[in-house]
Amino acid sequence: MFLLKKKTDLVNMRKAGKIVADVLSLMRELIKPGVDTYTLDKKAEELIRKEKAKPAFKGYRVPGIPRPFPGTLCVSINDEVVHGMPSKDRILEEGDIVSIDVGSFYGGYYGDAACTYPVGEISKEKAELIYVTREALNKAIEVAVPGNTVGDIGYAVETFVKKWGFGIVREYAGHGIGKKLHEPPQIPNYGSPGTGVTLKEGMAIAIEPMVMLGGEKVRTLPDMWTVVTADGSDAAHFEKSVFITEDGPEILTPWE
Ligand code: MG
Repeated sequence: MFLLKKKTDLVNMRKAGKIVADVLSLMRELIKPGVDTYTLDKKAEELIRKEKAKPAFKGYRVPGIPRPFPGTLCVSINDEVVHGMPSKDRILEEGDIVSIDVGSFYGGYYGDAACTYPVGEISKEKAELIYVTREALNKAIEVAVPGNTVGDIGYAVETFVKKWGFGIVREYAGHGIGKKLHEPPQIPNYGSPGTGVTLKEGMAIAIEPMVMLGGEKVRTLPDMWTVVTADGSDAAHFEKSVFITEDGPEILTPWE
């Protein structure tokens, strides 16, 4: 079962969300050709700790993966979809696209959001991919209202992305969020209208379309974390944490 949030939960959830939104704004300033992804990670961690919060991904453990996630950020470049690890050896180059996923833990609650950025001038294809993924998230948020279902969210993403002929990552999904980083229900980026869990006032969910230029298959690199597209095509990832209310969705991680 999923947990409904009270007004008192929201105070710290908004703060946790604001912190990740601030990190994503900072990344927009820092991302340029020649920057290594370790530097981005350190700047993100500094900001989070200055706000008396903790990085939510650092030390995160997944059953079956021997080493915990090492970074504050997931930094996924070009054909990397999600869970790329920051490194001094990964230098951003002109024409790359880079997805930054960041989580914070503040006052007992989590915030989680992601954004894909261009590095300098990028190709028309990559710009379209970014536009479509970001717009798919917006379409999904529009239907995140009480009475609609998780299937309505997936359907909104899937129909929009298909119209452009791009691929949807099906192995990874959005999720409930609150006192845990990942709570039920799962929020897939595909689905049928009116199916699955019904959305209710008080639910908090992270919606996160992952879209690729090519086919829909992904694989995990031998580092056991980094997920890449199987066909080597580029991928983008946008995410916001959203609170479901009768007055419409409240964005808990308000990056722009
Ligand atoms: Mg997430």
